[in-house]
Amino acid sequence: MATRKVKGNDADLSNVVFETSEEVQVTPTFDSMGLREELLRGIYAYGFEKPSAIQQRSIKPITSGRDVIAQAQSGTGKTATFSISSLQILDTQLRETQVLALSPTRELATQIQRVVLALGDHMNVQCHSCIGGTNVGEDIRKLEYGQHIVSGTPGRVRDMISRRALRTRSIKMLVLDEADEMLNKGFKEQIYEVYRYLPPGTQVVLISATLPHEILEMTHKFMSNPIRILVKRDELTLEGIKQFFVAVEREEWKFDTLCDLYDTLTITQAVIFCNTKRKVDWLTEKMVEANFTVASMHGDMPQKEREAIMKKFRAGDSRVLISTDVWARGLDVQQVSLVINYDLPNNRELYIHRIGRSGRYGRKGVAINFVKSDDIRILRDIEQYYSTQIDEMPMNVSHLVFPPRYGEFVPHHSLVA
Ligand code: ADP
Repeated sequence: MATRKVKGNDADLSNVVFETSEEVQVTPTFDSMGLREELLRGIYAYGFEKPSAIQQRSIKPITSGRDVIAQAQSGTGKTATFSISSLQILDTQLRETQVLALSPTRELATQIQRVVLALGDHMNVQCHSCIGGTNVGEDIRKLEYGQHIVSGTPGRVRDMISRRALRTRSIKMLVLDEADEMLNKGFKEQIYEVYRYLPPGTQVVLISATLPHEILEMTHKFMSNPIRILVKRDELTLEGIKQFFVAVEREEWKFDTLCDLYDTLTITQAVIFCNTKRKVDWLTEKMVEANFTVASMHGDMPQKEREAIMKKFRAGDSRVLISTDVWARGLDVQQVSLVINYDLPNNRELYIHRIGRSGRYGRKGVAINFVKSDDIRILRDIEQYYSTQIDEMPMNVSHLVFPPRYGEFVPHHSLVA
């Protein structure tokens, strides 16, 4: 790949070097992106003033119709990048699905729908979240009514296409958010099945904070001459997120360590990651028994319960959430400033996504890893792989977990339902 290095600056949130496959223009303002008037109004009303580094580089190529692979660190505005681009290319007079965005979790698909609706507030846009665990009849009804943008999870979307409730003939663009996860073993078949139903020449946009080599290699199968906007892996961890470890030696010691940290967790909001659903249930029960207030979420819970938990957490009514990797990718709750890996994640990519739940859009964040003796090796591997630093946790971290400073950006539209 002929790479061209482009240096961002601090004001764009990132002084990271992007590696792009060809000359990619940097468009420093939303005004100069050639966006439709009513979309610009939506962007400013939402509270955005200046595009982030990835927005400055990706919105133009996407809206010009090119296939694009866009990578940027967590929380730097990737969702908004493809949401704005999708809204720009719509013909709102035509009430047919023109953009299909697929994501790995229901919560993420719903979050994207909310962002699209908020940014498209002045556009009279129809956007539907098409996800499993919801009423099928209702889904069919909404799709038959006509939706410009569908944001969904692969299983339900495929089902809706095969029932012909989701009509694909006017689809111009397919977005795979968390693309590396979507092209992984678990999802790949479903994605290809959906892809087969799309009109030939459908534009494809891949988005993720992590795009391992083997994923990039398979993209030639379904993308044509894509523009790549990539970040080197030694620049992927955000400086604003301080990373620590606590050596616990044995599994049984993790629980007491967590209890000791509880006051710090509640300064703003925190997410605690465990590797299995059973462990999430077990830890939640133990915390509740010990009189701590915690919420929890995983994929085996009924959808209604998942929704209720998300709503409370987004509203700040619950402050500590114990979850599986269903929460690792994409979810944006700006008040989260602390992430705890009760268990170390099972792969290097998940580490980036999990810690990226804190430190959203330039805020400060703290990630704390609980490591048993035999985990130290895995942590050192992560540290080396991303050329980052994970120190032993100091006695007091609460001063690092600040709530947002006065005057810091908070969107005008709350993402709370
Ligand atoms: P990513 O998808 O890269 O993880 P998001 O698109 O979810 O990041 O953005 C992270 C947060 O930053 C969101 O709360 C979003 O509203 C905010 N954000 C995105 N772009 C901008 C911008 N240009 N100006 C201000 N805030 C922004």
